[in-house]
Amino acid sequence: MPPSSLTPLALPHVAGLHAYTPGLQPTEPGWVKLNTNECPYPPSPRVGEALQREIGADGASLRLYPNPKSSPLRAAVAQLHGLREKNVCIGNGSDDILNLLVRVFCSPEAAAGFLLPSYSLYPVLVEIQAGRSAVIEFDRSMQLPFDQIAASAARAFFLTSPNAPTGVAITNAELERVLASFRGLLVVDEAYAPFAEENAVSLLARHPRLVIVRTLSKAYALAGIRVGYALADPELIGLLDRVRDSYNVNRLSQAAALAALGDQPYYADVLARVKATRNASLRRFRDQRGWFTYPSQANFIFTEPKNARGESGVAVAQSAYDFLCSRRVLVRHFPSRALTAPFLRISVGTDGEMLVLHDTLDAWLKTPNA
Ligand SMILES: *Cc1c(COP(=O)(O)O)cnc(C)c1O
Repeated sequence: MPPSSLTPLALPHVAGLHAYTPGLQPTEPGWVKLNTNECPYPPSPRVGEALQREIGADGASLRLYPNPKSSPLRAAVAQLHGLREKNVCIGNGSDDILNLLVRVFCSPEAAAGFLLPSYSLYPVLVEIQAGRSAVIEFDRSMQLPFDQIAASAARAFFLTSPNAPTGVAITNAELERVLASFRGLLVVDEAYAPFAEENAVSLLARHPRLVIVRTLSKAYALAGIRVGYALADPELIGLLDRVRDSYNVNRLSQAAALAALGDQPYYADVLARVKATRNASLRRFRDQRGWFTYPSQANFIFTEPKNARGESGVAVAQSAYDFLCSRRVLVRHFPSRALTAPFLRISVGTDGEMLVLHDTLDAWLKTPNA
């Protein structure tokens, strides 16, 4: 093939773009997959039934475009949170919603702000817009840098709560402190809030500059269906509706999401199991292994492995990661930044999967180079 002449035709900021790095999705069976925070349990049985019903005997309904605003789903989400339909926008995953927010609020002149570490999609979305960013670093305490956020002059600031990859939650009192000093739009990405003790929904009534972003990928076991949503003031929802694709959520996804939201007792049970497994594993890392571990309110654990000599650091985390990988246990390591490099992020699986994880870590500790 001749050398491509296409890339020089692309906008320069696109030619130089760094794509988001998703976690590995192995295609062969046999892996204990604890790397992308998916739910270890299946979705409600009502989801499969709703999909069958939507497809029908011959798939005839698929000839027709879906509801453009996902209106029945907006109504169901509103009811779930005690809000109005006009407070809700549905996205093709919450990534779609985050993308819409960046489109509306970020440009080469208008900065979007975010913290490091937090969800690593934000800088990618900003780069796609050739947008300006205001980047603020956490220190190891993971306490919010309130003054720096207030001074950032960002149009929109993205906070992840509970945070990824640490699992540390921001309290509502802390969010109110940010809202009192920061003048822009505050986006709180609550992908993991169903696993937490508190969420920010009750703040919406008093704070029109607050947007909450949720997903059905984690707590509703529907990562493959791609549905997320924004909760906000109707004026903000109107802005998102101006820039979103007119049919951004397909028929099957709307049907699946409606069925899932309609089975709250099923999900209360799933959440209780995931949280119990998380808390048991957290105690094992902290109290039995003595590994520094952040207090997770999410469905994953961010822990700093120690080797047999009690040492930690990037090489130790890499060694544990590599050993787990060689035994087909997949977790996540973020070696590119000093704050995250000594840690592993481990999604909460079933009790059986966590047993395999801990047995494999015990085996790693007995290897000569651990
Ligand atoms: C998983 C995740 C998302 C993405 O959710 P989708 O609905 O699958 O696009 C958004 N934000 C955070 C913090 C996440 O961890």
